[in-house]
Amino acid sequence: MTAALICSDCGKPLNPNPRRLGTRCKPCGARAMAQSPAKREKCRIAMKRRFDEPGYKQQHVARCTAGTRRALKDNPEFRAMRAEQGRRVGLLGLGKEKNAAGSPARVTAGRKRTETVLAWCPVEYRDEYRRLVRTKLIRAPEARRMVEDMIAADLARYAATGVLPQSARLQAAAAEIEQSHNGAAEEAAGQGMQ
Ligand SMILES: [Zn+2]
Repeated sequence: MTAALICSDCGKPLNPNPRRLGTRCKPCGARAMAQSPAKREKCRIAMKRRFDEPGYKQQHVARCTAGTRRALKDNPEFRAMRAEQGRRVGLLGLGKEKNAAGSPARVTAGRKRTETVLAWCPVEYRDEYRRLVRTKLIRAPEARRMVEDMIAADLARYAATGVLPQSARLQAAAAEIEQSHNGAAEEAAGQGMQ
């Protein structure tokens, strides 16, 4: 049993503990380890090796994303803080010169954003959802409910008739657009002749 039972850094009395290897209390021991360049280098290498293991990084990202989502949902203060941070970063306009609107990076980012936000909505129904939100000015949750009801009704119809109602609607809409284009072209041609 060693004699001096005080922390060598802060002088706080230490309880006898056979598992204690050094001469420091817990906080001082942690601080000394965190400040040691040799220890930090060892940690850096160990962490890098860990992240190089197949699948580890993906799992780590998934855990972090899930944690953030949970906090955004359950913790209004955290949510407000993140919104404020986002607003501030957005106002900086970072990268706007390098990646102007319409640049390939922005187009890709926009597509990915749509994939995330509209992941619940099948591709064939996205224009309908956008029409409800943008033209009809229906709020997003209500519009989503309407589209989901529409999908459920369509699936029931499909089960009964074997016809996908949305395909028929899209075909009809495309035909209508083509007709109006043709009409406009004829009109333009007619005006050109006058
Ligand atoms: Zn100490």
